[in-house]
Amino acid sequence: MLNLVLFGPPGAGKGTQSERLVERYGLVHLSTGDIFRYNIKNGTDLGTLAKSYMDQGHLVPDEVTISMLEAEVNKNPEAKGFIFDGFPRTTAQAEALTKFLASKGTEIHLMVALAVEEDELVKRLLLRGEHSGRADDTDESIIRNRIQVYNDQTAVVADFYAAQNKFKNIDGIGSIDEISERLYAAIG
Ligand code: AMP
Repeated sequence: MLNLVLFGPPGAGKGTQSERLVERYGLVHLSTGDIFRYNIKNGTDLGTLAKSYMDQGHLVPDEVTISMLEAEVNKNPEAKGFIFDGFPRTTAQAEALTKFLASKGTEIHLMVALAVEEDELVKRLLLRGEHSGRADDTDESIIRNRIQVYNDQTAVVADFYAAQNKFKNIDGIGSIDEISERLYAAIG
């Protein structure tokens, strides 16, 4: 199996690059943000709960997010591996993921992070908000809040993987192709 975490702040290009990695490595893409949005669209209880956090740019509580993620992994028993996109976002999520994958006899092999500075992120997210239909992409104060949450609660997750020699930082500025090539080189 090959299990990757694609990491980085909101607007770094994780979704776009995940599509490339799915094609190249034949992995199953699990984006917790996408799964929450799917639940919101379908009016599930999980969606209603998640929406109240997402609309503010806050994180959905760990217990909810972790059990949802585990259920999604369990739906794909034949997977050659996974790309986790937008998860783990807290150290508690990272610890839970380690335990969960260990129970399946596997692990995270590498976290690759896309580095993009804040002003560029805000610019990209506002642009995306013109088409994405995402309420959390249209309001600059909510965007800044999401970046703040990333800096306060999520950035430390990189240390968790760095301590295990499983972390690589990638320059997230450039064309989509250039960034894909950097990722392929990092993943090997
Ligand atoms: P994203 O699509 O990754 O930008 O996520 C959109 C929103 O979904 C985030 O701002 C959070 O409110 C929520 N979310 C996504 N992934 C997680 C996670 N791993 N933990 C908590 N909340 C999450």
